[in-house]
Amino acid sequence: MAPVRYRRVPVYLRHPSSLEHDTGFGHPERAERIGALEAELERRDWLGWERKEAPRASDEQLLAVHPPEHLRAVRELSAREGAFDMDTPLSRGSWEAALHAAGGACALVEALLSGGERTGFAALRPPGHHAESARAMGFCLFSNVAVAARHALDSLGAERVFIVDWDVHHGNGTNAIFHASREVLFASIHQYPFYPGTGPLEDVGSGEGEGFSLNLPVPGGSGEDVFLSLVEHIAIPAAREFRPDLILISAGFDAHRADPVGGCALETSSYGELARHVRALADELSVPVGAVLEGGYDLEALAASVATTMEVLADGGRPRSVDRHRLTDAAAETLGRYWGL
Ligand SMILES: [Zn+2]
Repeated sequence: MAPVRYRRVPVYLRHPSSLEHDTGFGHPERAERIGALEAELERRDWLGWERKEAPRASDEQLLAVHPPEHLRAVRELSAREGAFDMDTPLSRGSWEAALHAAGGACALVEALLSGGERTGFAALRPPGHHAESARAMGFCLFSNVAVAARHALDSLGAERVFIVDWDVHHGNGTNAIFHASREVLFASIHQYPFYPGTGPLEDVGSGEGEGFSLNLPVPGGSGEDVFLSLVEHIAIPAAREFRPDLILISAGFDAHRADPVGGCALETSSYGELARHVRALADELSVPVGAVLEGGYDLEALAASVATTMEVLADGGRPRSVDRHRLTDAAAETLGRYWGL
């Protein structure tokens, strides 16, 4: 794709419908998450970012990933305030919220690939990375990041998309959707064994897509050095070789040490370090990078980590280099069959 001249002001996608997806008392994935992170951004004058209203995803965008029965199920369960499973309840506002969450991710990639944006953040809910093509689960209704990646590939001229998922949980939905595809390189660092139980190192993709799933499980308690080592020595070199036209971050913040759901030990600043590696790769390849919100359930940690991530995505800087961790060596042994690691 032809190089574009980037705009200076990054874009932040949001929509009031995100506040109307009511998951009920005590559910960690709640509307207050958006309120908390936006209050923090407001306090920081939005870092100078431009706020834009996220549109609804079109039927065409959703149907490129999800079958029509799945759309119907989400709409019907929303109308009667049902649930897909114990974790994934819906309210009357859920349908509209889900449409805008997927639509915001699509609008983000449009801004990145056609609008001259260098970076952006889609901060909507419900999150998406657990939703499979025909199955909602784990707080997720539509696979927002997969719908956006598909949109980039089908309609915006992208040929290869790199998705890095740093949510503490395995992005099983995204992984399943592109499991047999070479158009998407998917890298996920996740606590393991842990919900949803998928994503062992040996799951490298299938068929045409063999080698294009980089599943990087880490034990509970893992901190910044482990995450950074896997990013620096596995995900980034593979992505460099893959040469994506677009980088998307499935940006969950539940690997933060303060998170009540995840069991890892990242600091707020760790998200800045992770983002700096991804930012540097995007600059090296002259491609844009956008982040799509996934999990993150401690309101204060979420808000500060999102702001840090946005700051670094806009400003960049030199990434901190770490030594190879033993998990990195194990990953390189398996994934080195496909990439020069
Ligand atoms: Zn998560």
